[in-house]
This record gives sequence, C-alpha cells and structure tokens, in this order.
Amino acid sequence: MVARRVIEREEKLDRKASVLRTESGLGASGIPHIGSLGDAIRAYGIKIALETQGRKAEFIAYSDDLDGLRKVPTGMPDSLKNFLGQPVSAIPDPYNCHQSYAVHINSLLRDAMDKCGVEYVFHSATEDYRKGMLLEQVRKILTLADKVGDIVKEEVGQESTQLYCLTFRFAVLVDAFTQLNQPRMTKNLTSFSTHAKAQPRSGDNNLPVAVTKGR
Ligand SMILES: [Zn+2]
Repeated sequence: MVARRVIEREEKLDRKASVLRTESGLGASGIPHIGSLGDAIRAYGIKIALETQGRKAEFIAYSDDLDGLRKVPTGMPDSLKNFLGQPVSAIPDPYNCHQSYAVHINSLLRDAMDKCGVEYVFHSATEDYRKGMLLEQVRKILTLADKVGDIVKEEVGQESTQLYCLTFRFAVLVDAFTQLNQPRMTKNLTSFSTHAKAQPRSGDNNLPVAVTKGR
C-alpha cells in the first residue's frame, strides 16, 4: 500500500524518476538494536514492493556518521568520554578493529542486514558531504529555509523544526567549509545571518567557495 502511494505520488508530480529510492538512516552513535534493524527491513520491504509493481527501486542505508557522540553507550569503554560531541566518524574505534567508531557501530547493523538478506547501497554522511554530493540541496534549503520550515511544520507539526533544519544545515556547512568570516546566528530565525567565505580543506576540492544567506 505504501509502495502504491509512492508510485501514485510520483505520477502526480510527474518527476519520471527512473529509480525510486527508499532510505533508512543507520544511527552511528549508539549500539544498534532490533528497532534499528526493523527500520532497515521496512524500507527494504517497500523497495521490494515497488519492484513487484514494475518500478526500478533501490534501498539506501544511510549512515548518520556526522552526528556527535551524545553519551557513552552502556557497555562501551569509558575512554569515549573524551570524544563527547565529536562527529562519530572522527572518533577512533575503541576496539581498534575498524577505521573509526562510526564504522565499528555501522558494521554491527550491516552484519545483521547481510544475515537477513537485505540488499542495500551504503552511504556515509561524512563521505557524501566531503564529496559535495549534497551541496545543491543544502543551498536550496538555506535559500528556501522559510518555505522548507513551513512544509516541515505542516507535515510533522513541529514549529521548532524550521530553526532546527536551518541550524543543522548551517552546522554542516561550518564543518564542511571550515573558514567562516564572522558567522552570526541567533536563536531568532528572523535575525539569522551568515556570510560565509569558505576555503576548501585539502581534499575537499569539489566544494564551492562561498555560501551566503542573510536578511
Ligand atoms: Zn571495530
């Protein structure tokens, strides 16, 4: 039924997407649990349902590995306290068996998905932002922040989401572009103003060099 609704919406929007994609976020900050696997399996199920209705589909497992570590998960080494607030992809694997804490945590869920036969395309937020893959969307969200906020409010009924949406994207940009000249942001969205002149970090050569949003 969900798949049918998706197809009907696509037809109404007349987007003519050759591939319909479902997605599940892989939280990378805490140990995955049965609910995390359930989320992935549901999205994969919709992908299969889309295919049975004759559409080409893909399931994306998206690692939210730019999230900061909020607390040390139960049962994990206390040494992680030293990394609270840091993006989980930048934290060393406390067990020294993977490239980072995030990769270690993701591997647990990916292992369970593999064992359940879930087929997916893996994406890492850290990698995608570094490659500049989401820049166009980030720009659009910053430019149309008010409109985006209205839609989110209408869909989920959360007024604060508008500011959250904007501050989150801003934080991503700060991280991606690094050198900002006098960024200013207050809690009042209407006085939000940033003028970012960015110098790409080494290895980030795909990033454009300026983002501005102000009023
Ligand atoms: Zn590991």
